[in-house]
Amino acid sequence: MALQVTEQQPLAEPRPSRFARLGASMRTGFRAGFRVAAGRTLNVALPPLCPACRSLVGENGLSANCWGKLSFIAPPYCERLGIPFAYDPGAGVLSMQALADPPAYQRARAAVRYNDIARTLVHALKYGDRIELAPLMGRWIARAGQELLTQADALVPVPLHWRRLWMHRFNQSILLSKAISYTSGVPIAETAP
Ligand SMILES: [Zn+2]
Repeated sequence: MALQVTEQQPLAEPRPSRFARLGASMRTGFRAGFRVAAGRTLNVALPPLCPACRSLVGENGLSANCWGKLSFIAPPYCERLGIPFAYDPGAGVLSMQALADPPAYQRARAAVRYNDIARTLVHALKYGDRIELAPLMGRWIARAGQELLTQADALVPVPLHWRRLWMHRFNQSILLSKAISYTSGVPIAETAP
């Protein structure tokens, strides 16, 4: 769907006087200004587009097609790594990966499986300046980590190297943390310990 503002051809006028030309020029300026203002209004009024495929979004912030392709991670999953199990092995059972190579952290959770649509969204936030995705993705993360967040004292966004910060102009983990903090009520630590 696209809206288009077409420009009308000016009517031919028989040799206008200097004052008439001035008036016409003012009218043209007014019309041009109106078109700019109308264009801005149209941009604001246009419905939001899906960040992944640019078609119209549904209630979930994505198009119905992309929403259907997102694979949210839900139990059963490894208590330690958060990776999903194909079947439920029972409460507290750890994955083979967690047993063979225990990570430095106690527990991790992920919102979605890293498939094509998830990769598109992550890249759009990280490299495409699509910072409006942060509140949406932050809500998904807050939901996935609900259990951990109820026991958390603070959120610590992963710091970004200054060169990357200079390149990207923002730290996406801070933006995500703000959304997670807003949803969960857990404060963001001012500085990493
Ligand atoms: Zn889409």
